[in-house]
Amino acid sequence: MTSVPAATEAAAPVDPEVAAVVLDLLTAGRAAAAPPATAPAGAPSPGPLLGVWAHPDDETYLSGALMATAAHLGARVVCVTATRGELGGLVPPGSPPGLTLDRLRVAELAEALDVLGVREQVLLGLPDGGCAQVAPAGPPGPAGPVERIAGIIRELRPAVVVTFGPDGFTGHPDHRAVSAWTTTAFARAAPDGARLLYAAASTDHRERTRDVDELLGIAVDGADLDGDDGPVVPPGALAVRLNLAGRLLERKVAALRAHASQTAGALAALGPDRFAGWVAEEAFVDHRGRVSP
Ligand SMILES: [Zn+2]
Repeated sequence: MTSVPAATEAAAPVDPEVAAVVLDLLTAGRAAAAPPATAPAGAPSPGPLLGVWAHPDDETYLSGALMATAAHLGARVVCVTATRGELGGLVPPGSPPGLTLDRLRVAELAEALDVLGVREQVLLGLPDGGCAQVAPAGPPGPAGPVERIAGIIRELRPAVVVTFGPDGFTGHPDHRAVSAWTTTAFARAAPDGARLLYAAASTDHRERTRDVDELLGIAVDGADLDGDDGPVVPPGALAVRLNLAGRLLERKVAALRAHASQTAGALAALGPDRFAGWVAEEAFVDHRGRVSP
């Protein structure tokens, strides 16, 4: 795993309500252990958080505040990104000669993780737009994506793994492939008590932001976000919901600004307040909990 340089600020701002949710998430099912320095005395130690995503920026849109809060609580946080995002647009005019989009996006990812206080990342280096064509198991041995992710899970022993659901959140084929790989890897390698969570959105957040999703064309390949197989579920069906405000939301937006090749257009189109409102929820369902109660 690659170590990311230390965060620009030692202590990420943490919302107490969000911190309580994240601490509960990362300590449930774990035996009490020595508390980290930043947790209240006597609190159980939060277990590691692993995120597995497809492109640079997925991690921040879907779990930036979760990662920042977990890191602040002293949890080990590892971010896996399958591709370098080399198909995601164009190198901005005025960039240094020779700068390629994949190099730019990897640099943006490192900066975003720095903003969030995430110190460990893994780049799988798979082809952007081509994940669905990568054989899930890959060649025999450890080179395939499933076994690479399983290897990370065995080493990290995460309390929680977050990734896309089979819907791919937006329907993107790379997202769907990463969901399938991670789900198989989790089944193969996760320690007892670990939870696998899929990125989702609440129906009420979706209603508040539907116009933004449509303006930005979030659904791809004709995906029906609101359908029975989509990521939008009633609040009661969510396993975890973080409602972001204040400095934590500002921190997430700052990390998204670091992904400038992907977010500058949306920020300009929406303005900072509407953009912040659009990204102010992070929500997840248990991987077996897709059915509404
Ligand atoms: Zn993506």
